[in-house]
Amino acid sequence: MESKLTFKQYQNSLQENRFLGLECKNCRVYTIPPQAVCRSCGSQEFIQRQVSNKGIIKTFTVIRIAADGFKPPFIVAMVEMGQGAYLMGNIVGIEPDSANMELIGKKVEIKAKLVKGDLYSKDIWTPVFEMISV
Ligand SMILES: [Zn+2]
Repeated sequence: MESKLTFKQYQNSLQENRFLGLECKNCRVYTIPPQAVCRSCGSQEFIQRQVSNKGIIKTFTVIRIAADGFKPPFIVAMVEMGQGAYLMGNIVGIEPDSANMELIGKKVEIKAKLVKGDLYSKDIWTPVFEMISV
């Protein structure tokens, strides 16, 4: 696979519900979304990889006062994806007021959602998490 991943390629892959990340050639830690340097060791040598669309909620918070253009309340979570990559996004499909610590450790499916641009940003594809019922 090609060794670089541009933000545009990442956006295009999200539109197709594929999740591309970068594996550090030095320490093997995965980074997603793409960045110029490895968050773990600072290397700039990467291999582009497809990452699993399943993950586990590691932590979350409920936003009740949101930035301009966002409608609270909503849940922001940090999800550990396959291959050790971490990804931040919103948990959708559950009522934010019902969120509690039992969410931690639960499995989610990662999907992509188009967020309309506002005064500060353009339209952007972003990952969202849906609970996997067991
Ligand atoms: Zn590294």
